[in-house]
Amino acid sequence: MSKKLKHRIIFAIGCILLFVLCVGAVNAVLSLFVKDDKVAETNQKTKQVKKEIKEVKSETKKIKSQSKNKKNSSKLSKRAEAYKKAHKDVSDAEAIEAVKMNLDYEPYTHVTTVSDLDNMQMLVNKYHNLPEDYEPSDLVTVTNSGENNAQMHKEAANAFEALVQAAQDQGIELSACSAYRSYSYQKNLYETGVQNNGQEYADKYWTRPGFSEHQTGLSVDIRLDGDTSDLDAPRNSANYPWLLKHMHKYGFIVRYPDDKEQYTLIAPESWHLRYVGEELATYLYENNLCLEEYYALQ
Ligand SMILES: [Zn+2]
Repeated sequence: MSKKLKHRIIFAIGCILLFVLCVGAVNAVLSLFVKDDKVAETNQKTKQVKKEIKEVKSETKKIKSQSKNKKNSSKLSKRAEAYKKAHKDVSDAEAIEAVKMNLDYEPYTHVTTVSDLDNMQMLVNKYHNLPEDYEPSDLVTVTNSGENNAQMHKEAANAFEALVQAAQDQGIELSACSAYRSYSYQKNLYETGVQNNGQEYADKYWTRPGFSEHQTGLSVDIRLDGDTSDLDAPRNSANYPWLLKHMHKYGFIVRYPDDKEQYTLIAPESWHLRYVGEELATYLYENNLCLEEYYALQ
């Protein structure tokens, strides 16, 4: 073998070795990149799965919370449940309303004493009474109080006089026969009733002292057409519909309407008006609500 050929063979082997080395190196570098891509891809997938798990968890929490709220809102109080059991035909809403009015309690029990005594919209009934010593500070005699020197809270008296004037403009004679009554007056009235007729009878016809709306100075018993024959005479007057339709504009309501005895616990009184102010009177008139219902719906 010539020296030249020997060099060529060595050179060729060198080239082959170099080629093999290069291919190896390229493969190694490529495999590194491929591996990184796979890791990156796996990481991305893990991140995505984690995100999805988080979303599912959050959704589950939301659904649980919604279901809990729904359960709470549809859950009746023990009192409302008991009321529903005792009154088969009432709905959940009616039971809740009745409980708000304390109608599941005996009258004259669970009593709250009115503290906001300047409130013309105050609620006085068989569960809400007035302090024994309460007397409105600005009582005035109603100008056309036909009998009994009827006195009212000044604002109510002014409103009543405006109503009387409006009636007069229609040729209707409206007057007051009884308005403010003190605690002691009511006490005497009730106790005389008990002595003469027994407590059951007295409770039917007179409210107990402290529980009469007349002590507020915001109520007035009326006469129509000068008819003094019977307290309930206004009901039969041809002028009564006019009064029913217009008194709210002067701030008055019929406090014990015919269809609300189950809430007021007072038999209908066509003659007993109550001043609550024009805004509330109009609202009650337009929505056919008594004062008890109004407060129960608050
Ligand atoms: Zn009355």
